[in-house]
Amino acid sequence: MTIKRALITQKADGLYVTLTLEDKSVPSLTVDIQPTEENSLGIDSGLEFFVACSDLTAVKLPKFYRQSEDKLAKLQSKRDRRKLGSKARRKLNQKVAKLHQKIARQRKQWHYEIANQLLDKADVLFVEDLKVSNMSRRNQPKQGENGTFLPNGQSAKSGLNKSFADAGISGFLSEILPGKAEKAGKKVVKVNPKGTSQHCAICLNRVPKELSDRWHSCACGASMSRDINSAILIKKVGLGVRLTIKRKSSDNKKRRSQRSVA
Ligand SMILES: [Zn+2]
Repeated sequence: MTIKRALITQKADGLYVTLTLEDKSVPSLTVDIQPTEENSLGIDSGLEFFVACSDLTAVKLPKFYRQSEDKLAKLQSKRDRRKLGSKARRKLNQKVAKLHQKIARQRKQWHYEIANQLLDKADVLFVEDLKVSNMSRRNQPKQGENGTFLPNGQSAKSGLNKSFADAGISGFLSEILPGKAEKAGKKVVKVNPKGTSQHCAICLNRVPKELSDRWHSCACGASMSRDINSAILIKKVGLGVRLTIKRKSSDNKKRRSQRSVA
């Protein structure tokens, strides 16, 4: 084993050394799995749920997210009432930084658990490509210089999620989940999420929704949580289904009923 790189970082509770090791006896896995209906899972990173899956399951954010955030907000406002440059303020600044670190670690731990749970379900995980969806559905998380998250308008927009929970999902989908998948010999495939919130997972017709609409109900009879509907569509798109713009299903219904009247 050889040391490839050493990195020293200053964190809230001290200095850290990160070593990058190379072990040539560990074979690098080349994953070549063909996704099928049976071996794949669609995952939507929703607003109501942390993740919602095409197998009709969903994972909510744990309580500690909200609790830690409340604690952080209190600590920050306490700090902001102290005079700039004062000793009391400096001390509170340190406390804020430490709490940030604690939250980040809690979150990482929880992310690892969820990643394992998802990887137990399937060999190929289809997830939304956040680079594409960020532009249409989400506001980018804004990070301040000491790792704090600044308001990005997302919580105001959705009224459901918080900025740092949002920042968590992109790290989860782009680093933690693919990392765990590689070790397990499985695959994470990014899917263009365009249309996956605006179409019906059962009949594929367009059913437009506002961000605040949490339920998907379609003239075809489909009725389910918006995030589950998206997860099923993400799987379908991953497996090659194209979401073309069809006529709105509610228009269909209207037209049909008009015809029957006439
Ligand atoms: Zn439908």
